[in-house]
Amino acid sequence: MERMNAWEKYPEGKKRDEVYTFAEGYRKFISECKTERECVSALAAEAEKAGFKSLEKIIEKGKKLKAGDKVYANNMGKGLALFVLGKKDLEYGMNILGAHIDSPRMDLKQDPLYEDSDFAMLDTHYYGGIKKYQWVTLPLALHGVIAKKDGTLVQVNIGDKPGDPVFGVSDLLVHLSGEQLEKKAAKVIEGENLDLIIGSIPASEKKDDKEATQPAEAVREKVKANIMKILEKEYGIEEEDFLSAEIEVVPAGDARDYGFDRSMIMGYGHDDRVCAYPSFMAILAMEKPEITSVCLLVDKEEIGSVGASGMQSRFFENTVAEVMNAAGTYSELALRRALKNSSVLSSDVSAAFDPNFPSVMTKRNAAYFGRGLVFNKYTGSRGKSGSNDANAEYVGELRAIMDKNEVAFQTAELGKVDQGGGGTIAYILANYGMKVIDSGVAVLNMHAPWEIISKVDLYEAYRGYVAFLNEQA
Ligand code: MN
Ligand code: MN
Repeated sequence: MERMNAWEKYPEGKKRDEVYTFAEGYRKFISECKTERECVSALAAEAEKAGFKSLEKIIEKGKKLKAGDKVYANNMGKGLALFVLGKKDLEYGMNILGAHIDSPRMDLKQDPLYEDSDFAMLDTHYYGGIKKYQWVTLPLALHGVIAKKDGTLVQVNIGDKPGDPVFGVSDLLVHLSGEQLEKKAAKVIEGENLDLIIGSIPASEKKDDKEATQPAEAVREKVKANIMKILEKEYGIEEEDFLSAEIEVVPAGDARDYGFDRSMIMGYGHDDRVCAYPSFMAILAMEKPEITSVCLLVDKEEIGSVGASGMQSRFFENTVAEVMNAAGTYSELALRRALKNSSVLSSDVSAAFDPNFPSVMTKRNAAYFGRGLVFNKYTGSRGKSGSNDANAEYVGELRAIMDKNEVAFQTAELGKVDQGGGGTIAYILANYGMKVIDSGVAVLNMHAPWEIISKVDLYEAYRGYVAFLNEQA
C-alpha cells in the first residue's frame, strides 16, 4: 500500500521542467490574486481569452449553445462556474471540478477607523479559522473594494505593489510578556486585538488651510484626520465609504519557491487556490468532451459555505438550468437528471504529514508531500460526523482512471480519530445525489499566513483533473 514519491516520475531535465513551469504559473497567480474577487476577475479574463463566452451575454442575445461551446457564469464577482459542453446532452450528467477561492484572513469592520494614543488604527474581524497569534508582526496588505454611493466600485490593493507601504498588527515585547506567555495559545492574541496600525502623523493645525475638509471638532483626532486626508486625496474615499466596503487584510508579498531544490511553494492562501488553479487549468484543456466538463469555484467555504456566493446558494443549480435552456435541452426533469447523474471531485486542501507534529496523524492514513493528488473518502470529525463519505464504487472508478493515466495519488483523512476535523463543499453537492469525493492537494501550515505545498502534488492534481474530465462518465 506504500505510495511512491511522484518526483521519481519526473527525472531532472525536460520532465521535471514541466512540473516547475506549471508551478511557476500558479506561483504568479496566487501572488497576484489574494481574494476571491481577484481570483474571479483574473480567471474570467483568462477564460475569455481561451474562448469562453459569458452566459449572461448568451442569454441576453438569445444565442443557442451546442457541443464544444464554452461558457462561464460569474456569481457576484466572487464565484465562477465554467462549462465546456459535451457531446452528450447535459441530462446525462456533468464531470465537475469544485474548489473554493476564499481564504482565512482578517476583514475590516464596517466602521473600522479610529485613533488611539497618536496611532491611526483599523478595527478588524477575522475570517475563517486562524491561530490569531500567527497574524501579528507580519507585513500585511489591504485588498478589496469600496462601493461608493454613486454606484462606482473603487478597487483597493495596497501593500503588494513595489514601493507600497505595508500595515500590521503589533505584538507585545518579550520583556513585558511574562503574563501573556502564561496564557493559552488561543488567548495570547485576542480577536479584538487584531487591529491594524496605519499611521502616526497628526494633521497640520493651520487654521487658514483651505483644503481642510474635516469639521473643527473632528480635528481632535488629528492622526485619523490626516489619514482621511490621504485616503480622500489618493483614493477618493471618505470615511462613510467604509460602510459599503469589503476590504481584506492579507499577508503582503509574493509566493516564493521553498527549499534548496525549489520543490515547494510558500504562499498565502494555498487553501484552496492550490486546487482552484489546477481545476481551472484542467477545464481550459478541454475540447468537446463526451460529458460536459464543469469547473466550479466558490466563495465562503471557510465560514460554512453560506450566503449567495457560497456553495449552499442555488447559483450553480440556476446556472445549470440556464445552460440547458440555452442548449435547448431544459425541462425540470432533465435538470434533476443532469444534477443527479453528475460526478464530482470536490477539491480542498488536505493536512500534510508534518514531521514536527507526528502525534496528531496516523502514518498510514495521512497525506504526504510528493505522493500526488489526495483522495479523502471521508472528512468530518468525532465518528465521521458531518462528512460526505464517498461510495466505495466511486472510489474504485477513480482509482482505475488515475492508474490508467499514471497519475500519482494517495488516500488520507484529516488527522487521527477524535483529534479534530473539518468540512468542505462535498456534502452540499452530494445532496443532489451526485457521486462526490473529497480530493485535493496536501498543505503544510494550513490556515497560517504562509502555507506550503509541493509542486509535484500540484502538477499531479492538474493531471488527475484532466484525466477525470476526459474519462469519468
Ligand atoms: Mn480552510
Ligand atoms: Mn479549504
